[in-house]
Amino acid sequence: MSWYGKGLRFRCTQCSHCCTGQEGYVWLSPRDQESIARHLGLAHDAFVKRYVRLVGRLFALVDKPGGDCIFLTEDKRCAIHPVKPRQCLTFPFWPRIVETPASWDEIAEACPGAGTGPIYSAAEIDRALDRDTPREELWKLMSKP
Ligand code: SF4
Ligand code: SF4
Repeated sequence: MSWYGKGLRFRCTQCSHCCTGQEGYVWLSPRDQESIARHLGLAHDAFVKRYVRLVGRLFALVDKPGGDCIFLTEDKRCAIHPVKPRQCLTFPFWPRIVETPASWDEIAEACPGAGTGPIYSAAEIDRALDRDTPREELWKLMSKP
């Protein structure tokens, strides 16, 4: 059994901290790129030219000067919320964050929603971690009342 066998609590306070600052990348899968481009009404090439950067062999969103996400609005909302990248949708249930109690405690210091709110069972966390879990299921999962 994983160390989080009794589950972990999470509820996003919408503080936007994880969308700001210079650390980290918002990685984009081909599916993420396709969905966001369609949502914005852009052709794939136009979307890539404006919003995507190559980091090594991976694709990520460009940042605003200062490091905030390009899609973080003035009022600290996500401009592409319905199609936000899978990485954003599943935060904080990422492999490196739920790897150990220490890595979870570390993120809980930066994310006020981690450790509060409803309990996500180990099975639910594992579904969030599974790259094959359909987005529709992830939306329901991550919108737990
Ligand atoms: S840091 Fe945590 S609480 Fe704040 S917006 Fe991100 S997920 Fe939500
Ligand atoms: S895409 Fe949206 S949720 Fe993801 S980092 Fe940018 S503003 Fe935040």
